Amino acid sequence: MRLVILGGPGAGKGTQANKLCNHFQIPLVSIGDILREAIAAETELGKKAEPYVAKGELVPDITMIKFVRDRLLQPDTKNGWLLDGYPRTAFQAEELDFLLDTLEQKLDWAIFLNVPEDVLMHRCQNREKWRNDDAPAIVKRRIDLFNQRTIPLLEYYEYCQRQRLIAVHGEKTPEAIFQEILTQIPTE
Ligand code: AMP
Repeated sequence: MRLVILGGPGAGKGTQANKLCNHFQIPLVSIGDILREAIAAETELGKKAEPYVAKGELVPDITMIKFVRDRLLQPDTKNGWLLDGYPRTAFQAEELDFLLDTLEQKLDWAIFLNVPEDVLMHRCQNREKWRNDDAPAIVKRRIDLFNQRTIPLLEYYEYCQRQRLIAVHGEKTPEAIFQEILTQIPTE
């Protein structure tokens, strides 16, 4: 199973990503977590990403594309994966398809967690694990970028990509959302 999960900041991507990875026994590739770890460890990637993540801006596509390519070339992702927080731009989505073509892999589903903006803002302010980029002004910027850069991908996955989009309302309990996603993934 190859999945990407899309949603604004605080949409519950991480929670659903973990559940889906357990269910399908696939490795989780959480770009946000990887970037935060890289920043803490002051690696090359972390140094490049830090000024962007701190302001809630997107890390440049070229850095992200290279990173994801290297990650999906690792042996543990040969038979499946879930990308959490990627792609976030049209360029990233197109490059992901290009990469999958060369790897002779196909994306199974793009899952979109649909959550209204006021709820996203509220959730980011009330996360158990506070993040520096959860300050209200930064969350606002992240939501704006999500609307401008990532929302267009929904059409891309729905119409240009063999109707690969699964959209669910992300305001129920995590378990109810998870079950709703599963009912939309046909068993082969
Ligand atoms: P997240 O944990 O998914 O909310 O990501 C936290 C931050 O990491 C974002 O606000 C961006 O600065 C950066 N980031 C995560 N994924 C991407 C991506 N696909 N492209 C560019 N920047 C990203």
